[in-house]
Amino acid sequence: MCGIVGYTGKSKAAPFIIEGLKRLEYRGYDSAGVAVIQGGAFEVAKKTGRVANLEKEAARHKLTGTTGIGHTRWATHGGVTDANAHPHVSSDGKIALIHNGVIENYNAIKTFLLGKGYTFKSETDTEVLCNLIAYHYEKEATVAGESRLLESVRKTLHHVEGTYGIVALCIDSPDELITARRGSPLIIGLGQGENIVASDVAAIVSRTQNVIYLNDREIARLTPGEFSISTLDETDIVPVIDKVDWSIDDADKGGHEHYMIKEIFEQPEALENAMRGRISEDGSTAQFGGLNISPGEFRGIERFMFCACGTALHACMVTEHLIETFARIPVECDHASEFRYRNTPLFRDTLFFVMSQSGETIDTLAALREAKRKGYKVLAVNNVVGSTIAREADGGIYQHVGPEVGVASTKAFTSQLLIGALLALYIGRMRDLSFGAGMRYVNALKGAPDLVRKVLNQAPQIKEIARRYAHYSDMLFLGRLSLYPIALEGALKLKEISYIHAEAYPAAEMKHGPIALISEKCPSVFLAPKGEIFNKIVSSMQEIKARKGPIIAVVTEGTELPAGLADDVIFIPECHDAVLPIVASIPMQLLSYYIAVERGCDVDKPRNLAKSVTVE
Ligand code: GLU
Repeated sequence: MCGIVGYTGKSKAAPFIIEGLKRLEYRGYDSAGVAVIQGGAFEVAKKTGRVANLEKEAARHKLTGTTGIGHTRWATHGGVTDANAHPHVSSDGKIALIHNGVIENYNAIKTFLLGKGYTFKSETDTEVLCNLIAYHYEKEATVAGESRLLESVRKTLHHVEGTYGIVALCIDSPDELITARRGSPLIIGLGQGENIVASDVAAIVSRTQNVIYLNDREIARLTPGEFSISTLDETDIVPVIDKVDWSIDDADKGGHEHYMIKEIFEQPEALENAMRGRISEDGSTAQFGGLNISPGEFRGIERFMFCACGTALHACMVTEHLIETFARIPVECDHASEFRYRNTPLFRDTLFFVMSQSGETIDTLAALREAKRKGYKVLAVNNVVGSTIAREADGGIYQHVGPEVGVASTKAFTSQLLIGALLALYIGRMRDLSFGAGMRYVNALKGAPDLVRKVLNQAPQIKEIARRYAHYSDMLFLGRLSLYPIALEGALKLKEISYIHAEAYPAAEMKHGPIALISEKCPSVFLAPKGEIFNKIVSSMQEIKARKGPIIAVVTEGTELPAGLADDVIFIPECHDAVLPIVASIPMQLLSYYIAVERGCDVDKPRNLAKSVTVE
């Protein structure tokens, strides 16, 4: 998944690249590296660990070149070592390369190149690709100077199986970058006398807001004053230049200790942004701009299929509950990574949705493509405008919550819940949901940001509770109906950022196995709001307490639990069913955040994770 930055211009490349890598560090942080061309040679600095380590290393190298490439790695092939860090340089010293993705046939290519005398210093598939470019570069000696590197990369990519986002440099053309993609995001930034390529606009917006989103199987050549794009099959592309509406401030921490807590506290505004313009004039239903599907077509849908991964899948599961409850249409949710290979039988009048914050999640993209191959329309819910998923979907809904940098998703998740709730309302109002019920639903959604603020105000108390649970090694999260996915999300958040083993179950399932885990060493977090099955959840709590399991109960304000049942209680305001999952998510986020901080964990960059999973 990795972060990529390439620069060619008038100023020193390394400081800009390193700054950009810091903004992309959420994409991978096993190692980082930078290479510039200076004095007729590559000067490469690379180091395992964070970009801060690279910064120190780079200072020793005195990087003055004005063309360069940089990378933060999320290792797939070869361990986390300095040698495996990118950029890689070909054994003849001609080509330097950074790469996001996986070259599946790298072994066969490596054997071929070894036979031709190329040598290798790392275990990566990337170094193999780099040497294959060098091999073709050598063979293309007759091609005119300007196109030689471009043609060598093009030839190389015809022999490659797998996924890539790459940027290549050549020692003979010191102000040129060649970049190409298949399956990994790449964006070109067009500056004044300088051009940039990066895997995310966050690394570009400090210099320019004019960007071009590269498509799969496209290859581009950048120099300080020019750029050109063509397909791998040599068809010229007329570029579409977009304007990014993020500013650099959107991507900074704004005085908070971590991005995650900043983003948790941004949720009321994020929800308002996700809702803006999406309530109908009569205030009884939702409206969306980019679905590209008429109400008549929507009315004919008999079944929905949602595919996503991780947190986004939990948002889909809540959406399933809301659509089935309020619109009475069957919904199925699937792991995108499974759907793509499962060849599941599908009903005819099915509409597909995929959800992905980044819009680059490779498994979700593959599920989208599989559904389209089968002839279905696919709509996407995603946050990053212009992402691959947004562009390949038939239509969709943007989350509009600004950049989310913390690896553990928070504001993106609750905005996905909100959009799911709006969708359920929209479809419901086409079916049985009355005008009055629609109005009540809309008013509830409008009140959601304030209810979230109310729960956020309890952060100091939740922090205190978290302190008392930070030393445990196992935890259970239990919820029912629409809060079962929120329990799943609570367990996922805790695992991700505090490394505490956590599992989630529908509360009543607990007695069918997981109860064997219960002892004074395994606390349970219960999501137990007011409602028709509240008493059933209380019975589950009693069963845990009888086995000495500590309990944190999340209950509706005013609820009185039997004395001594819960060790700690967090109150949430009473709310409409469509809003409840959003409100109940907040204590889950705060608990996991404060537990992770108490344990001294690196909250924004949890080990082994990366924010957008762009490798399979
Ligand atoms: N496959 C390459 C490696 O393991 C690139 C991984 C990445 O996308 O960061 O080095």
